[in-house]
Amino acid sequence: MKYELAIIGGGPAGYNAAERAAANGLKTVLFEKNAIGGVCLNEGCIPTKTLLYSAKILDNIKSASKYGILVDGNPTFDFEKIMSRKNKVVKKLTSGVEMKLKAHGVHIVEGTATVLGEKDDTINISCNNEVYSVKYLLLCAGSETVIPPIKGLSETEYWTSKEALELKALPNSLAIIGGGVIGMEFASFFNSMGVKVTVIEMMPEILGVMDKETSAMLRADYTKKGVRFLVDTKVTEVSAGKVFVERNGKSETIDVEKILMSVGRRPVTANLGIEKLKIELQRSGVKVNEFMQTSHPRVYACGDITGYSLLAHTAIREGEVAVNHILGIDDKMNYDAIPGVVYTNPELAGAGKTEEELTASGINYHVLKLPMAYSGRFVAENEPGNGLCKLITDDDDRIIGCHLLGNPASELIMSMSMAIEKGYTVDELKKQIFPHPTVSEIIRETLFA
Ligand SMILES: Cc1cc2nc3c(=O)[nH]c(=O)nc-3n(C[C@H](O)[C@H](O)[C@H](O)COP(=O)(O)OP(=O)(O)OC[C@H]3O[C@@H](n4cnc5c(N)ncnc54)[C@H](O)[C@@H]3O)c2cc1C
Repeated sequence: MKYELAIIGGGPAGYNAAERAAANGLKTVLFEKNAIGGVCLNEGCIPTKTLLYSAKILDNIKSASKYGILVDGNPTFDFEKIMSRKNKVVKKLTSGVEMKLKAHGVHIVEGTATVLGEKDDTINISCNNEVYSVKYLLLCAGSETVIPPIKGLSETEYWTSKEALELKALPNSLAIIGGGVIGMEFASFFNSMGVKVTVIEMMPEILGVMDKETSAMLRADYTKKGVRFLVDTKVTEVSAGKVFVERNGKSETIDVEKILMSVGRRPVTANLGIEKLKIELQRSGVKVNEFMQTSHPRVYACGDITGYSLLAHTAIREGEVAVNHILGIDDKMNYDAIPGVVYTNPELAGAGKTEEELTASGINYHVLKLPMAYSGRFVAENEPGNGLCKLITDDDDRIIGCHLLGNPASELIMSMSMAIEKGYTVDELKKQIFPHPTVSEIIRETLFA
């Protein structure tokens, strides 16, 4: 079977690229071994955000009296319904993606694809005992959970994010090993559901490369809500119901019902057969240039498989860049202002440089910051209203970073991501009119701070 483009992996990178390619006239085949939508739609972004929304409603009802609303009795929840609604949302979105792909004429093949090799400028791929011959290949095989070599782990039952999203019942207590974005979103969900949560993080602060000041504020917020944080703490061993840790030279044993492993994800590059095309790898994944081209000029790689950003929106944009390059459309990838969001309650978001990154590189920078409470709308909707808006500028007064803690940071960060990418100065942005009253006005207030 002959196609112009084959895509391995039907996650955000693959399905968006397939849609664009087919819409622009490329005869496209898309291979997916599990479920269209990939990790993002089936066991990542969408299911977690659906669960977190149920948790947020519960949190809001619990704090309703602060807003003068009296709820009779203790608010409770139907866990089975929360999970079945999550499944319904996933189904609705994955069916929508599949319908769109078919409408654009993408040939979807359910099965595991493997590269067989190349002959006379044709790349051959095998799937379900059929051979597909193509001119271009796009690798979008995604990533998998990293399982670190912790003593006792292989003999102990534990969850990854996948199992945590398929629960039938809640545990009483949970240790989350790894306080990154995924770990914190689960900490937030289970904390709202009344589970006793302990987050164990090896680094001095949670949330990896996100801004440290807002991350520490979020940690303080969740500590007040009852989550126990052990930062600067190493897990030395696990066994059924026990996590052994070491911090400040002291050992401690934590008794828990369940363990969630969440120390990170790594690109899937094995078993794809890409060595037959001599595709170069680097430490983080498949090596690509700014057009998402690998070391083979007709093979591209997008999304988590490159190991750059491990975010769905980056994967989508990378897919566009690759397809545009194949089509001869001028385009290239820019990673300078990719927004990152932590969907806790409150939300935390950032784009561009952090103070920590700039300090480490010895680059001069300036900080403008204000508490979120300078926004009228924020005060009206948030009791007690803790939060921060931080803008980072360079010596030319250009905005090079933005870090937000407070709802709805996930919605506000896009405007600042655009400002950073377009290289706006503080004076240029000051002339923008922000709708009143919205939380977005905090950005304007901070520019004048
Ligand atoms: C719990 C969790 C929450 C997350 N939340 C967010 C969020 O809120 N926002 C965000 O931006 N990102 C989030 N992410 C990350 C996001 O899911 C990924 O960045 C995104 O899915 C990457 O897209 P992708 O297309 O590169 O890979 P994937 O979505 O992993 O898709 C790859 C696909 O390739 C298929 N595949 C692999 N090998 C083969 C083969 N040989 N043949 C056929 N098919 C193959 C796999 O089955 C898979 O479906 C989250 C991740 C997790 C785990």
